Amino acid sequence: MKNKSKKTYPIQLSEDELRAKLDPESYHVLREKGTERPFTGTYYHNKETGIYECKACGNEIFHSSKMYDSGCGWPSFTHPIRPDAIDVEMDYSHFMIREEILCAKCGSHLGHRFPDGPKDRGGIRYCINSVSMDFKKDS
Ligand SMILES: [Zn+2]
Repeated sequence: MKNKSKKTYPIQLSEDELRAKLDPESYHVLREKGTERPFTGTYYHNKETGIYECKACGNEIFHSSKMYDSGCGWPSFTHPIRPDAIDVEMDYSHFMIREEILCAKCGSHLGHRFPDGPKDRGGIRYCINSVSMDFKKDS
């Protein structure tokens, strides 16, 4: 599936660079909008404190302090690390209307946003594929 977005992102990575940098599953999720199988991701049960970055370009996207256990099978957050760290687009694929979350710097696919997050913390769930991210532990 091609990215139909007309938006130009500040970081442009060539297909060759991305293929060299990413493992096949990460490439599939980030660049072809795939989804990792639920409950399998590396970071689903990660309890360490630190920052999650876009695996394609290194943009800081989420902090562990906003992570919570949603039970959905993917790493879930209530907020991005900064409002402008991510980009949101409507996604009409798979006969659903969802909000797609993209890296604001390189436009790579990260996951989806749903209105079923914890009510006392904003009510939004950012549901992100582990393979889209690198984790940088706080030192
Ligand atoms: Zn990125």
